[in-house]
Amino acid sequence: MNAELTQFLKNYFETSKLNQLPEKFGGDRIFSSPIIGVAQGDDPIFQKYKEIVGSEHLTPLELWVAEGYENLPASNLRVISIVFPFNDKIRKESKNVKKFLRVTLPAEIYCIGRNYANAFKEDTCRQVIEYLKKKNYKTIAGMLSDSFSILVKEKFYSTWSERHIAFATGLGTFSLHEGLITEIGCNIRLASVVTNAPLEITPRKSENPYGNCLYYSKGTCRKCEERCPANAIDANGHNKIKCHEYGQRIARKMLTRIGPILNPHNRRVNWKIRFASFPVGCAFCQFEVPCMDKNPIAEDYD
Ligand code: SF4
Ligand code: SF4
Repeated sequence: MNAELTQFLKNYFETSKLNQLPEKFGGDRIFSSPIIGVAQGDDPIFQKYKEIVGSEHLTPLELWVAEGYENLPASNLRVISIVFPFNDKIRKESKNVKKFLRVTLPAEIYCIGRNYANAFKEDTCRQVIEYLKKKNYKTIAGMLSDSFSILVKEKFYSTWSERHIAFATGLGTFSLHEGLITEIGCNIRLASVVTNAPLEITPRKSENPYGNCLYYSKGTCRKCEERCPANAIDANGHNKIKCHEYGQRIARKMLTRIGPILNPHNRRVNWKIRFASFPVGCAFCQFEVPCMDKNPIAEDYD
């Protein structure tokens, strides 16, 4: 069933209009082929996330019940995480940076891909829900649920963290820049669904949450720190507040440059809908770094 679902997603990634850059930017795909990971719904890691991420972070069963589905043994649930890797053209062009009024700006093609990714990820979740429904299984998506909110308290987190879900499914580990380093790198987006379809579990290779990062595993690299124009990364890790503030500056500049082709995105923050932000990202820390498109320590597992 895992292989069939992966093939379904590959076909969808190839054909969806939502996975396409505007003609002016070449009309290529935004994301190349996806990979998936699967965790069992009763994996104890989901309870641990209440301590690590925040007490409001949902377990798969809590999300399931909140969506109105029947209470069942959590072991009957599967959590499917999907990796969306940015295509090579976006990565190539993102190596060239421009300064505009003293702000280092990412490539426009990346900003558009990052902005369009929101609608594509949501539609991918809907497609998986429909695909599994035709096989008589029920499926929900954290990002489409009313139970999802970004929480801004003493720290930023959400009630369903796609990176933590992806770690649980064995897709990769965290890192100095706080992205998830998968076998196909960190320059990705993530989405996930919870289902009662009996997919095969993909076990974690290591319980070390930072095992794929060269800095945390070998004390080397720190290329992401060099690449960050906001000084948001240092030996102590990633400063979400500095990163967020720099991202906001970039969003304002990009809105004046390419605003008419960007899509608005509504977000739920502290349980209230915030209308029409135009997320465009930054991600210098993910380009021209050893973990951009691979797991830099993969050979250690062989
Ligand atoms: S660039 Fe190097 S230090 Fe930074 S996250 Fe990637 S592997 Fe880790
Ligand atoms: S996203 Fe941008 S500001 Fe944030 S850590 Fe990466 S390079 Fe720095």
